[in-house]
Amino acid sequence: STPYIYFITPTHFRAAQKADLTRLSYTLSHVPNLHWIVVEDSDKLTSSVAEILKSSRLPYTHLNAQTPKDQKMKYTDPNWTLPRGVEQRNSALLWIRNQLAGVRSGVVYFGDDDNTYDLKVFGEMRKVQKAGVWPVGIVGGMFVETPILAKNGSIIDFNAVWKRERPFPIDMAAFAVNITLILQNPNAMFSFDVPRGYQESTFLEKVGIHRYNMEPLAEKCSKVYVWHTRTEKSKLSKDLIEKLTKKTGFN
Ligand code: UDP
Ligand code: MN
Repeated sequence: STPYIYFITPTHFRAAQKADLTRLSYTLSHVPNLHWIVVEDSDKLTSSVAEILKSSRLPYTHLNAQTPKDQKMKYTDPNWTLPRGVEQRNSALLWIRNQLAGVRSGVVYFGDDDNTYDLKVFGEMRKVQKAGVWPVGIVGGMFVETPILAKNGSIIDFNAVWKRERPFPIDMAAFAVNITLILQNPNAMFSFDVPRGYQESTFLEKVGIHRYNMEPLAEKCSKVYVWHTRTEKSKLSKDLIEKLTKKTGFN
């Protein structure tokens, strides 16, 4: 049978949140055997996100986990100052460990709300034995960031230029992990205490993976099936959007 994909999406309030989630829901609705775990960075679940989930007709879990105030970026901060999605991804991992403890097959992927996914990436995820890796478009200052393979198909290096000394110089969108590794390694979590750019590395080390033992996918890492597209920062502040919501009736 087709292994399940547990697709974890942190999401937070921004002007394009509904647009991003709507687009993502239309992508994911083409994917069979996918369970969407959406974790809002908020103090409660919102009805606008709930509606998108319901309309998607996907199997889903809707959670919220608020980023601690002292870790939350201010609107004016450049977007690299603090890690994003830490609390939310951990909350999803906790849910998986609590609710899916007996599950023997399936794969876990961290898919942000504003990335772009070719449907082919989901087929690649289902091939994962322990941890799979593939190229990601427009990330880390590169057109494509990818593992480099030897003729025999094994990973010998990574082409990353940004902090290439990292144990795993790859983006969150570049890998998927078998759910059994998540269940066997309850300490594998994200953290506000790791240096910038080290979320992926810390997590993958804790699930017991070595960089050269990841399974290279997407036609020997020759294809881009996911792009780290980014939603433009809106000039509308949260306060202004809330005011406009009340005034116009749009939400
Ligand atoms: N995110 C969040 N809380 C925040 C900022 C971001 O939950 O305070 C989510 C966001 O919705 C996205 C993911 O974390 O799914 C990564 O954030 P973003 O896309 O802003 O970062 P980038 O892709 O630019 O690194
Ligand atoms: Mn993003």
